[in-house]
Amino acid sequence: MVKVKESSGKAKRPLIVMKFGGTSVGSPERMQGVAEILEKHIRDADVVAVVSAMGGATDMLIRAATQASQGMEEPWKGSRQELARRHREVADKLLSAAEQAVVLPRLAEQVKHFEDLCSGFTLLREITPRGMDTLSSLGEVMSATLVSSILRSRGMKSEAVDAVECIVTDDNFGNASPLFDETTAKTRQRLGPLLKDGVIPVVTGFRGATREGVCTTLGRGGSDFSATILGAALDADEVWIWTDVDGVMTADPRLVPEARILPEISYREAIELSYFGAKVLHPRTIQPVMHKKIPVWIKNSFNPSCPGTKIVPAAKNGQAGVKAITSVKDAVLITMNGRNSVSFPQLAARVFNCLHLENVSTLMVTQSSADNVLCFAIHQADLARVKTELEKAFELEMLHDYVGGLEVMRNIAIVVTVGENMKGTPGISGRAFGALGRKGINIIAIAQGSSELSISFAIKSSDMKEAVQAIHEEFQL
Ligand code: ASP
Ligand code: MG
Repeated sequence: MVKVKESSGKAKRPLIVMKFGGTSVGSPERMQGVAEILEKHIRDADVVAVVSAMGGATDMLIRAATQASQGMEEPWKGSRQELARRHREVADKLLSAAEQAVVLPRLAEQVKHFEDLCSGFTLLREITPRGMDTLSSLGEVMSATLVSSILRSRGMKSEAVDAVECIVTDDNFGNASPLFDETTAKTRQRLGPLLKDGVIPVVTGFRGATREGVCTTLGRGGSDFSATILGAALDADEVWIWTDVDGVMTADPRLVPEARILPEISYREAIELSYFGAKVLHPRTIQPVMHKKIPVWIKNSFNPSCPGTKIVPAAKNGQAGVKAITSVKDAVLITMNGRNSVSFPQLAARVFNCLHLENVSTLMVTQSSADNVLCFAIHQADLARVKTELEKAFELEMLHDYVGGLEVMRNIAIVVTVGENMKGTPGISGRAFGALGRKGINIIAIAQGSSELSISFAIKSSDMKEAVQAIHEEFQL
């Protein structure tokens, strides 16, 4: 539990924002677990809960919307039944009769909203980004309604809050960014009075709204981000992300059985780890709490007594060198050769513009100076789009052989070693190289940022497991 702050002699209850992910609210049993966790912690702290949609609901909503826009009615009608059934089951099992009377009509309204939107998409044979955001985040509206009602059924004071009333974002639908000043003002205005009255707000994750009040979403997995946005807005003492794993691990346990939980990592390490394989956190989660230095915990709602991982502004100067290894399996390496016709800056500018146009991010980038060659890795799934875009952009140069054709290496894995204290520790790459060399694993490309927080290696996918194990062993993680 967080230390109690003293202010003017009077003990102040700490404020914790607790986010519960899709698996943590995935069934009636899991929702009951959430209620038990909240029941326990509100004894010593004020809590704002943030909830994701029930596991799988968001995927289903997006699929339904897409099919509707293709003119198909049957599939979304099936999804409608499924949506109603799953939420209804929770209401049947966990709500008091009085709560059922209030909440069942509300859930029915939400399902009706789904139906209206899908009918619209079917008629128009089109779905706009804003339409998609309103629909894809409906799962959060339904789960917040239910969780809050479960808390009331158990005698706690609670109110479901739609984050469109708190989080103000830009209009980049599908991946919106919060406008912090406005968000802070609105959040305090909406949640402040509830907290003062001892009411637990249960806020929808994932969604926000533009200044004009049009619903937006914060990107897939965005409920983590919602939690830290609200935490920063409310000056919370801590943010707890309840998920389905015990914390951030030294490596993926499916690859390395000896992998262990890291009790503490720094903000920057967490960002680095979230960006690659370790899917515990949405990559933008840490940003809102950085200035205020609010600690973020990763905890397991399936195993609440496990302390989890604490993410802190700067890790203590403990272990030197590599702290964790993360990896991405399905990558491809693309090489563009500018020959001597296109300068490197021009080549890079045009290549990255293509990636930007397709909204594709790179996993690693290297340049070899003498011969104007740019090499970068992306997810295999993005390859077709990127290839088309690059071939269009360089059509003329390719025709005249001014630039080499695209060289694409498939079945690539990127293995990344992460650690704040790698900085200033000589010999880390050497040891990693050595460990891979002894296993006969060939390194195809390597990149290290000047921050020295991570070193990335591109290798063959088939070598990935062995490579991660070898590095894990070399650094005795
Ligand atoms: N429900 C959303 C998603 O599946 C947001 C989240 O779970 O964080 O992406
Ligand atoms: Mg998530």
